[in-house]
Amino acid sequence: MADQRIAKNGNGLKIMIVVMLAVIVALIAVIAFMSRSNNTPDPGRIITDNTPSSDAGATDAPGSTESSQTADNVTPIPPTEVPTAVPTAPAELKLVDYSGKVEHVFTHSLIAFPELAFATEALNNATNVEKVQSTYFVDCITVKEFKKILDALYKDGYMLVNINYVYEKDGSGVPRLKKTFKFPEGKKPLVFSFDDTCYYSNKMGRGMIDKLILIDGKVGTYTKHKDGTVVQGFDEEFVPIIDSFVEEHPDFSFEGAKGMICLTGFDGILGYRTQRVADGDGRTEADRQREIEAVKPVIAALKATGWYFASHSYKHGAMERYSRDNMYDCASKFNSEVIPLIGETKIYVYPYGSWKRSSDGKTCPPAQQVLNDFGFEYFCSVGANWYANTRADLGNVILQDRANLDGTAFVKFQSIFSTYDGTGTPRFPSINFSEFYDEARNISYDDAVAAYKEWRPF
Ligand SMILES: [Zn+2]
Repeated sequence: MADQRIAKNGNGLKIMIVVMLAVIVALIAVIAFMSRSNNTPDPGRIITDNTPSSDAGATDAPGSTESSQTADNVTPIPPTEVPTAVPTAPAELKLVDYSGKVEHVFTHSLIAFPELAFATEALNNATNVEKVQSTYFVDCITVKEFKKILDALYKDGYMLVNINYVYEKDGSGVPRLKKTFKFPEGKKPLVFSFDDTCYYSNKMGRGMIDKLILIDGKVGTYTKHKDGTVVQGFDEEFVPIIDSFVEEHPDFSFEGAKGMICLTGFDGILGYRTQRVADGDGRTEADRQREIEAVKPVIAALKATGWYFASHSYKHGAMERYSRDNMYDCASKFNSEVIPLIGETKIYVYPYGSWKRSSDGKTCPPAQQVLNDFGFEYFCSVGANWYANTRADLGNVILQDRANLDGTAFVKFQSIFSTYDGTGTPRFPSINFSEFYDEARNISYDDAVAAYKEWRPF
């Protein structure tokens, strides 16, 4: 990308004109976007009558007061601060009927500082197996790896799409994937989701950024290292990296869509401690309110630039272990603490990809029914092979697997990414994990594959 920037600088006047035109188009897009948002009815969360009324969650059940506070209370940032990069698909891309599959991939917050994540004293002295067993190795990718993946996805003709665009309701109100929808000719739709974009307290100083912030009105990152050094910028996390990628490649984003940010609530969101104050956590309600006010403009800027949100539960527990009452408590807390900040979402991303199966293949599990009653329609799990379908046994909701782009995929899933469900058609022909692998993981690629096989034979 750096090379392209240099090349651009050589074009002088031409670029200036293009930039000015882009700013005008962007302003029009922002105005259109804002008026569309304002016209969208926001019914708040609708809880049906079969929601348990007498269990633990009842005291903080989503009441009308909280629901009505949703998006309206989010302070919009002044137009002058709205980033100028609200992209639209270039006009020369002709819309045609698309009836193929919609790929959905995901990763976690990026490893911005690999030396803190992978070159700790403990890991330096660890065995190869121990190195590949570390959470960051398994679940995460570095900034360098992420950029190579983006280039590959773009090269393969993928274009980011908002998940809400790819499904609809049938005549009975049951959600289903659209069989056909309008999409630019020659492009393939891609939903890209990002789990746990919360920057949990226990991960501070371990290789990820501390929080998303606004820098000159654009979403950037903030990290304070142990020695007091502060790093602020646009090159440490997926949000600003995709924002600038789309600025350079507007045909990587359909109607301005970026990624789906999946949030829990128990430790706040986006690096801000917005969760309720608990006994002994050393915070006051005033601290919490300050964090809430601080995150609002960040959320507004994310939404204005095509990012959208999903629930990743409140507590990040594995659903298989949840009773109906526990799930109600969890969903209620998300509904009262996170939804007022991010606005309505119909999308639920199971922590660990864990979901409950129907006991008889027909009846919806009670914990799942709780989520359905809270209004979620589209559920996302984890699986490298493509899968998506409306599930009657889960109460008529969509279930989709997401292919993980993480350390596990790097050492294990090349063949799955290279072929399409055994049909032999390349799915992601330009993805080459062994070439993209970042040696900053502190173990060579070959050693990592061997160690992973020793740990979990495949
Ligand atoms: Zn998660």
